[in-house]
Amino acid sequence: MRRVSVFGATGSIGENTVDLIARAPEAYNVVALTGGRNVARLAEQAKVLNADLAVTAFEECYADLAAHLEGSGIEVAAGQAAIADAADRPTDWAMSAIVGAAGLVPGLRTLRHGGILALANKESLVTAGPYLLAEAKRHGATILPVDSEHSAVFQALVGEDSAAVERVIITASGGAFRDWPLERLSEATLAEACSHPNWDMGQRITIDSASLFNKAMELIETKEFFGFTSDQIETVIHPESLIHALVGFRDGALMAHLGPHDMRHAIGYALHWPERGHVPVDRLDLAAIGSLNFRTADPERYPALTLARYVMETGGLSGAAFNAAKEAALDAFIGGKIGFLDMARLVETVLERLAGDNSLKCDKLTLDRVLDMDHVARKIAQTIVDGDRLRQSGAS
Ligand code: NAD
Ligand code: MG
Repeated sequence: MRRVSVFGATGSIGENTVDLIARAPEAYNVVALTGGRNVARLAEQAKVLNADLAVTAFEECYADLAAHLEGSGIEVAAGQAAIADAADRPTDWAMSAIVGAAGLVPGLRTLRHGGILALANKESLVTAGPYLLAEAKRHGATILPVDSEHSAVFQALVGEDSAAVERVIITASGGAFRDWPLERLSEATLAEACSHPNWDMGQRITIDSASLFNKAMELIETKEFFGFTSDQIETVIHPESLIHALVGFRDGALMAHLGPHDMRHAIGYALHWPERGHVPVDRLDLAAIGSLNFRTADPERYPALTLARYVMETGGLSGAAFNAAKEAALDAFIGGKIGFLDMARLVETVLERLAGDNSLKCDKLTLDRVLDMDHVARKIAQTIVDGDRLRQSGAS
């Protein structure tokens, strides 16, 4: 039996992971499941999978989770430290699917006991890519990408010499506003940004898909994980989202990976790797699909892509600053404090300030440096948001 843990089990990726594990209970020994405030669901998952331990991220949810699991024999814990402790329990395979920078530490702790880390959490590679990869190497752990795009690139590279790669093309659906006139974007509301044309995902990543901040993160992840340069990494709008990525080789061949809009595709690949297991996703009917479309990703419409280029070229602590500013911008948009287009402006301003102070340079990333930068960039973003609010209320 394989020992497995799922961090962020109650989220969109987590639920899909639990679904695959639950289909073959005889194959897995579930060590730990973690979640947030949805303790009823977490408890239900823990019972179905007969997990050793269930952890909620929030201490105030402890009693509720304990009540749901009373008499089950399943251990209960709460808080960020408890999640990190859960990551210390040895596993053969662990899913990192907590949303946001909170996913970094549990992933790092998992690497310490070797095994496989299936990485959905984007923030880990964006904020601390070189450090994360060095830690994996140091402890003999394997990281497998779980985003559909990175799983696609990974699969296209099996058996290939990465020195023969000329370029990688990451596709983007274009998000909720891909067909909106540019001038309307500044008025886009939260509800409008929360509906994705192709994928059913968590709220934050859905908004990030509308702004293409999600794609920006993915470009940075591609650079960090596979070691390609910014010049080699392209993006194209592909409204159908059926091709997840393409790898172009020096003989001109392009290897594309196609699959339905179902994250169990990428999760299942990581779960069964290096074999191919049976994964219950719909099979594509190409004749019914008929055609696939592509358009240029316009940097004016999607300023997040330009910011991603800046981060890929700058390296150091720019990814940590970018991510923290982006998370703060997203919070401010969700909280109704800034408009949709202000998110990219805010991230750009934070990066400019930090670059001006020479704070983004860093020869050797460490966890402390990344966490410090996360803190500093959030604070700057917050100050700018609050300042704008003060100005607005002063003017009214
Ligand atoms: P989600 O919001 O649906 O779920 C997030 C999970 O993290 C939940 O279990 C939640 O309880 C938990 N969580 C939230 N805040 C937490 C905190 N502070 N500490 C600990 N746990 C916390 O998110 P998702 O869409 O499943 O995405 C998870 C990660 O995977 C993100 O980094 C996202 O970018 C990435 N990802 C998602 C998809 C997708 O299709 N949803 C695809 C590729 C990558
Ligand atoms: Mg993706």
